[in-house]
Amino acid sequence: MRDEYIYVAGWKDLSLVDVIEATSFTVWMNFCNFNCPWCSNAHVAKGLEKKKIRIIELYEKVREASDFIDYFHVTGGEPTLQPKALYKIFKMIYDNLDLPNSLDTNGSNPEYYSKVVNMIKHVAIDIKAPFSKPQLYAKSTGLNIRAINFFIPRIKKSLDISLDVDFFELRTTLVPNIIGEEETLMIARDLLPIVNRGKKRIVFVIQQFIPYSNIASEEYRNTSRTPPDLVIDIAKKVAEILPIEIYHRTLEYGTKKCKVTFSKVRHT
Ligand code: SF4
Repeated sequence: MRDEYIYVAGWKDLSLVDVIEATSFTVWMNFCNFNCPWCSNAHVAKGLEKKKIRIIELYEKVREASDFIDYFHVTGGEPTLQPKALYKIFKMIYDNLDLPNSLDTNGSNPEYYSKVVNMIKHVAIDIKAPFSKPQLYAKSTGLNIRAINFFIPRIKKSLDISLDVDFFELRTTLVPNIIGEEETLMIARDLLPIVNRGKKRIVFVIQQFIPYSNIASEEYRNTSRTPPDLVIDIAKKVAEILPIEIYHRTLEYGTKKCKVTFSKVRHT
């Protein structure tokens, strides 16, 4: 077989945190078409930490770990920026191992995504601001308004495609000075007509901002993390809007399902 390569920052044979309530072999693929100033994987996204490895070599590592994990999970950066390599590794695993594929994407590449969606069982898509506030989406992703006006319809298309995936995880991070309670509730309202069309498992995770040392922007590295009780409080309010499972993710309490659940009675 001709050598084919993939650019990765690294991998973890056994991760407990990348897919909710499951274990995974997680690989971090390089490069990203967004430039989120608060990105905690900036070294991955910018290709500062980069290895070129043979896809067959990565496949062998996954195969060896496959008895002990629930998913093969690909994150980044933005994995769809290496379309041939991603397709190849997903296909090898789909065809040869009894192990479901999982993808973490920013949703910017629906045409490509639709080509791999039948090979995955879990997808996570970050919603970085309300769709009705393109200025805010631009700020949160470090893109200009022209670019984000191009990307927003594409992200929405990716959400539609995701309704066919067995386990669809939506995520929003509470980015200081960009995404607070009001913006998160707007996102929840944006998502309502989409999740209402879903027939499979859909969850929404409200995430604490954590000033990791890998963040490229000094401003965000020096910002305090979101108070955990605020994350929980916002998750409870989101649960009043969306009829799906809501989770909150904080350093202090881990990833927990919100105790408040959507009440049909209040909404009829
Ligand atoms: S889309 Fe994700 S990987 Fe890319 S810059 Fe934003 S947070 Fe980082």
